[in-house]
Amino acid sequence: MSFIQYPYGDTLPQPGTAMALVPGVRWIRMPLPYALNHINLWLIEDGAEGWCAVDTGMDMGDVKQHWQTLTAHYPLTRQIVTHYHPDHLGLAAWLLEQTGAPLAMTQAEYLTAQAFANEIGNYSPQATGELFRRHGLSAERLATLAQRGNAYRRGVPQIPVTYTILREGEQVRIGAHHWRVITGNGHCPEHAALYCAALGVLIGGDMMLPSISTNVAVFAPNPDEDSLSDFLASIRRFDELPADTLALPSHGRPFRGIHARVAALEQHHADRCADLVAACRTQPHTAASLLPILFQRDITDPHQTFFAMSEAIAHLNYLEQRGEVRRNEEDGVLRYRA
Ligand SMILES: [Zn+2]
Repeated sequence: MSFIQYPYGDTLPQPGTAMALVPGVRWIRMPLPYALNHINLWLIEDGAEGWCAVDTGMDMGDVKQHWQTLTAHYPLTRQIVTHYHPDHLGLAAWLLEQTGAPLAMTQAEYLTAQAFANEIGNYSPQATGELFRRHGLSAERLATLAQRGNAYRRGVPQIPVTYTILREGEQVRIGAHHWRVITGNGHCPEHAALYCAALGVLIGGDMMLPSISTNVAVFAPNPDEDSLSDFLASIRRFDELPADTLALPSHGRPFRGIHARVAALEQHHADRCADLVAACRTQPHTAASLLPILFQRDITDPHQTFFAMSEAIAHLNYLEQRGEVRRNEEDGVLRYRA
């Protein structure tokens, strides 16, 4: 399949309802308070006792109320969370308290959640600010970012204190089927996607999105990390799955055409890298001064600035590793030349 198809067209699940996709798999859509205004969650039939939730949503608006309506029809047996981000992990502790459904996630994601929530080491807003300052973000934009405080802890006010560890390659039995854990990185340290060969379904989380490109991130504890290489290597693993696999993404609509999507994402990042190298050939640039070149849209709100800076640094680290740009530090600010 060389293009992307949306087998359910424009049909979306109504708020507080779950839409049947393939036998034993349901689609839920919850609101988000960002430019990206929704997240998809999934229910997998887990035998006679109930349903396994994949991801949980954020504590905002009617999300808890929607969950209460849903769990009246779909009692939860357990929760699998793909990664630590607030829209995925946010309500896990609340759902555990409400339903008793225990949490499963990879260890690196769980520990990263704890580190950001508790500001351990450089997993703190101050360290992130310092990283962005070193990469040329203006004092004004740094101040706006700092005003957010610990946005992570607001999004994930509580984290379950026990959980089951999911591991790469593990076959998780959920009801009638096995789902294979496919870990990936670059977006986050150990994202878990789930693949069911019997159903031909991939729950891709944030690693396989149909229309927007996944944020590729560098954070203050690993400032020189080549996250873009990690991300590209991770998505290439989806090429090994059958071409007609139904992909269930965290944002956007269920689709077929993962191979076409992997190719498009590779091209997207190759094009962005070429743009950055061209810009760094004409004059030295910081990550911050490259933002208008990397993103041809408005990214001035603090939430988007955070992801955009992180992504710009990831691209520069990737290019530096390949010898395509060189860094020079002057007055505590990193500038790059091609
Ligand atoms: Zn994410």
